[in-house]
Amino acid sequence: MKCSQGETFSKGELQRFGNIELSPSAGILNYGQGLFEGLKAYRKHDGNILLFRPEENATRLREGAVRMCMPAPTVEQFVEAVKATVLANERWIPPPGKGSLYIRPLLMGSGAVLGLAPAPEYTFLIYVSPVGNYFKEGLAPINLVVETEMHRATPGGTGGVKTIGNYAAVLQAQSAAKAKGFSDVLYLDSTHKKYLEEVSSCNVFVVKGNVISTPAIKGTILPGITRKSILDVAVNQGFQVEERLVTVDDLLDADEVFCTGTAVVISPVGSITYLDSRVTYGNDGVGRVSQQLYSALTSLQMGLAEDKMGWIVELK
Ligand code: PMP
Repeated sequence: MKCSQGETFSKGELQRFGNIELSPSAGILNYGQGLFEGLKAYRKHDGNILLFRPEENATRLREGAVRMCMPAPTVEQFVEAVKATVLANERWIPPPGKGSLYIRPLLMGSGAVLGLAPAPEYTFLIYVSPVGNYFKEGLAPINLVVETEMHRATPGGTGGVKTIGNYAAVLQAQSAAKAKGFSDVLYLDSTHKKYLEEVSSCNVFVVKGNVISTPAIKGTILPGITRKSILDVAVNQGFQVEERLVTVDDLLDADEVFCTGTAVVISPVGSITYLDSRVTYGNDGVGRVSQQLYSALTSLQMGLAEDKMGWIVELK
């Protein structure tokens, strides 16, 4: 789908996957004017195909588009385009329990612009790929390192929207952490350097007794759809949930730590390294709460549990 600045997107079309043509001075290539989303389609046992809360991705894209000075498809256009793309690629959706089809919507300033300004023309496209587990560990615990020098977001910046530049900003810290054997990096706030923000591509939760806490959304953390869903699932399961400032001390003192995201679903954290200390959780096993929430969420997403919240969109 294409549209000019100040106009609305018209209906798109399906195209075979392949390279796209862009001007060397396209807004996305020079000034990072790009936003993306990530969703998954699961195959159910009866052959149906399920999407999880796609209208939430549409809304987040639209909110991000305001920050990035871009026009965006309507919620209906977004959801229809996702459905059409998934149905056209049905043969790539793994069988039940064997993975999912990852869906990547991308909105970009595709028009040519030389001086710094919003691009004159925009392209919205969607591509898909079958995927298994995000971390090679699967539901086995991941090992995180707290980053004390580099930040992925600063107050007033773009950390709260899913813009491409946020991901470029994490590559150095993430690569260094992986080279040392860690699974990923946990970022701190850039002002006090003591409040947790999130991991490179997922939100973080700490569990203490019956209380599950996660950093409050305040412009520097991506408002994850899995995060929002897990807060509701946890309440339904009788946990007390808190969105607040979560400190490094809370983290090191937690019974369990886990991360949430479309790609990672729920990843239990087995250890945290902070400066010179390393804390392990749950005897290197998968914590009880992480396991319970993982089961609740994935059985919903795969169509094995009743969808009482109305979160599932069936495609057939
Ligand atoms: N934080 C960041 C930086 C992310 O890239 C993602 C993945 N979209 C998340 C959190 C989790 O968001 P969601 O649950 O919507 O996938």
